Amino acid sequence: MELSISSEPPSSNLARNLLAEPEESNHLQEWKDWKWQLKNRITTLEELKTLIALTPSEEEGIKRSNGRLAMAITPYFFSLIDKTNPNCPIRKQAIPRIEEFSISTHDMIDPCGEDNHSPMPGLVHRYPDRVLLLITDACAMYCRYCTRRRMVGEEMPPMSIERFEETYKYIKSKRSIRDVLISGGDPLMLKTEHLEYYLKKLRSISHLDIIRLGTRVPVTLPMRVDKELVEMLKKYHPVYMSIHFSHPREVTSDVREACGMLADAGIPLGSQTVLLKGINDKPSVMKRLMHELLRARVRPYYIYQCDPVTGTGHFRTPVSVGINIIEKLRGHTSGYAVPTFVVDAPGGGGKIPVSPTYLISQAKDKVVLRNYQGNIFEYFENCSGG
Ligand SMILES: *Cc1c(COP(=O)(O)O)cnc(C)c1O
Ligand code: SF4
Repeated sequence: MELSISSEPPSSNLARNLLAEPEESNHLQEWKDWKWQLKNRITTLEELKTLIALTPSEEEGIKRSNGRLAMAITPYFFSLIDKTNPNCPIRKQAIPRIEEFSISTHDMIDPCGEDNHSPMPGLVHRYPDRVLLLITDACAMYCRYCTRRRMVGEEMPPMSIERFEETYKYIKSKRSIRDVLISGGDPLMLKTEHLEYYLKKLRSISHLDIIRLGTRVPVTLPMRVDKELVEMLKKYHPVYMSIHFSHPREVTSDVREACGMLADAGIPLGSQTVLLKGINDKPSVMKRLMHELLRARVRPYYIYQCDPVTGTGHFRTPVSVGINIIEKLRGHTSGYAVPTFVVDAPGGGGKIPVSPTYLISQAKDKVVLRNYQGNIFEYFENCSGG
């Protein structure tokens, strides 16, 4: 079994398809076909130049980003780019820039220390009760800030049946594991029957409570979420999904439709968002994203501080920016719209929540608190009664 990605060169129709509004073109059928979208991803400077006026920094960035985490943009995701704006938040995520090749102090190849917590290739076991399974290195679109750029985007074949067998035996032998998070790369890049093979095996392990899928495909390739996929997933419940979103403009009608199908299949949907300079670091933008997510039936789960991965210095903000975003959300909008802001501790300490401080002091029998408006309240702890 191999990946569904075809290595055929893009069709010469690509530019025409991209320039025409999909609804107006008679290529709607193709446009809605996820395999067509993958086959026609924009991967070369020459193609991209015919579609958009590139900045010198982008041209140089694309020239240099060969091999690992090479540029690949689905026509669908490309259609969300504002072609007249070099600072378009969608564009910055998808098109490499020269800054990717400068290294800042404290940059690391594997900032979250995943390789040190790996009992076998493709498996990270950091927390006692859950494991992270890296099942493929392929994604529909390569995010320029990817935290796993050390291992993502070469589009190697996904984890083989033989390798998976070893992983399966490991999980089966450790009764403390109750949660498997399947990620990569992107597990929805596998053929449906291939993914099913793995889900079915995992589901046969009686001590597993939940199976989670970490994916960005519903955002970069929403047509991948088809009836066949959701019908398959719902056979292996409880299946949860964490979907990686970065900007409110990503929540299109296609994405809402994909999320609706997943939610209708009984899959609880959570979001994960990396805090990115110039993309979503304004509280107003993040709030709009959280509201769009709730409308799309996705519960905001995490905002991540951008990991100190080599080549992502230009995307990073101070931690205080994330804390301020939470400050501007909590109390000011539905609690469901407030995710947890976390820093994945460099060196492998796992995710550490960071939040504004609402507890002002803690004394015997009394705590002093402040609310979202900055008003001070006392709570007395003389709970003895009588
Ligand atoms: C993020 C992560 C998990 C899942 O963490 P939750 O907080 O339960 O979502 C598990 N393992 C690793 C290695 C992770 O990085
Ligand atoms: S979808 Fe995730 S794994 Fe893939 S390139 Fe983006 S951040 Fe990296």
